[in-house]
Amino acid sequence: MRNIGHFIDGGPAVLSGTRTSDVFDPSTGQVQARVSLAARTDLDTVVANAKAAQPGWAALNPQRRARVMFRFKELIEAEIGELARLLASEHGKVVDDARGDIQRGLEVVEFCCGIPHLLKGEYTEGAGPGIDVYSTRQPLGVVAGITPFNFPAMIPLWMAAPAIACGNAFILKPSERDPSVPVRLAELAIEAGLPAGIFNVLHGDKEIVDAILEHPAVKAVSFVGSSDIAQHVYERGAANGKRMQCMGGAKNHGIVLPDADLDQAVADIVGAAFGSAGERCMALPVVVPVGAATADALRERLVAAIHGLRVGIPTDPDADYGPVVSSQHKARIEAYIQMAQDEGAELVVDGRGFSLQGHEAGYFLAPTLIDRVTPDMKSYRDEIFGPVLQMVRAESFEEALSYPTDHQYGNGVAIFTRDGDHARRFAAAVEVGMVGINIPIPVPVAYHSFGGWKRSGFGDLNQYGMDGVRFYTRTKTVTQRWPSAGSAPERNFSIPTMD
Ligand code: NAD
Repeated sequence: MRNIGHFIDGGPAVLSGTRTSDVFDPSTGQVQARVSLAARTDLDTVVANAKAAQPGWAALNPQRRARVMFRFKELIEAEIGELARLLASEHGKVVDDARGDIQRGLEVVEFCCGIPHLLKGEYTEGAGPGIDVYSTRQPLGVVAGITPFNFPAMIPLWMAAPAIACGNAFILKPSERDPSVPVRLAELAIEAGLPAGIFNVLHGDKEIVDAILEHPAVKAVSFVGSSDIAQHVYERGAANGKRMQCMGGAKNHGIVLPDADLDQAVADIVGAAFGSAGERCMALPVVVPVGAATADALRERLVAAIHGLRVGIPTDPDADYGPVVSSQHKARIEAYIQMAQDEGAELVVDGRGFSLQGHEAGYFLAPTLIDRVTPDMKSYRDEIFGPVLQMVRAESFEEALSYPTDHQYGNGVAIFTRDGDHARRFAAAVEVGMVGINIPIPVPVAYHSFGGWKRSGFGDLNQYGMDGVRFYTRTKTVTQRWPSAGSAPERNFSIPTMD
């Protein structure tokens, strides 16, 4: 049985924790590897190494740090095919989609190649007589990232790239369900010229997460995962004085106005609802058509599109999506489908009971469409995170706008329309962090930033972009005076002002 170990101080490391966790192949239901789980006390060793390595890395001029980023980007690009297959084998997403997972992370590495420019401070000459003021951004020291199973390359890179480029030492605690790609990324970073101790991968579960949240030398923690855990991590870390950034779950809505290009909207909604088996925090699991005629026409087209979808193993080039991540998660999704029906919604297409020939023990689910869902239903309020699309019918634009606005989650939302006025009003008013206008999955490009509102995000700075640089640095502002020779000494007992 293959063992997936920690990657500490530039190489593989055996730590004191003796527990392991099974890593499954979701297509077969078989255990394919075991990952070591760190014990609480292991963190001291990892932090000590990281702390020792960090000042030297931070002292390297930013152009040299950027060159490591350039090389890191090249090495990931050269290996992207293999990485995608490895990722797909543990996660279950199709290989093409796994490439996208890596590519979106790579784009954050690309952004960080510009770190000398991004870290440039501000300067004011002559803020007072002989007085200049400048601000710089300095790294925090040792920082950590805790990531979910559903993007095992993209999300670790959202965090690792800016944290490291800014001059910090970074400890990644990836999901224990698909831990291989994060380790390979850290190996590639070392190959790219990163000093030992700057990018560490420490596997584990709640035990090590809680240790990270309590360790005094860990200055900031970025978390992405489900909302209850995001909130727990946020509160505990903040109570211990850490800078925290915690992204949670989602229930994204796609609003379809009567004037939308329905064929394009259906293609977009089906891809966004069922791609990656719906296991994306920016998936589109709720569709809100406005008016009965729009709803009926949309439903008819959705049913036809759903019947044309192909569920398959990740290496099947014709598969639209693969299995879900685990048997427990599959059972949870099936329970939500049943719940929706019991709550009075109409089960239009039932994806349960699907079996893929030759892979009968895999965690496959065919697509499900549920109509006449209402906001009081628990199956609507909760995140299902599977290949399940729910339809909530609205009578008016205002009613449609109220659904994503009133929902507990506020990650992403999309509106499909040809009417610029409605689109503009919607984007301005909706209480959601990321909005797509005729764009089903509005994940911002690497030089903007990613973050949801309400229970989708705890903390105030988004992931990557300039917010990422801000999160992993602190501002120091220097006010300096160099009096001219011969100037008279000044005494002042009042607060200095620029009167
Ligand atoms: P999860 O919350 O189960 O796990 C996330 C991380 O937390 C993992 O590293 C896990 O080991 C750790 N963890 C699990 N239980 C813990 C506990 N009790 N205490 C401390 N740490 C714990 O999430 P998941 O199932 O891996 O990922 C799916 C979830 O992540 C979905 O809710 C999805 O919407 C969300 N997600 C959000 C975003 C975003 O940016 N908002 C992006 C991707 C995924």
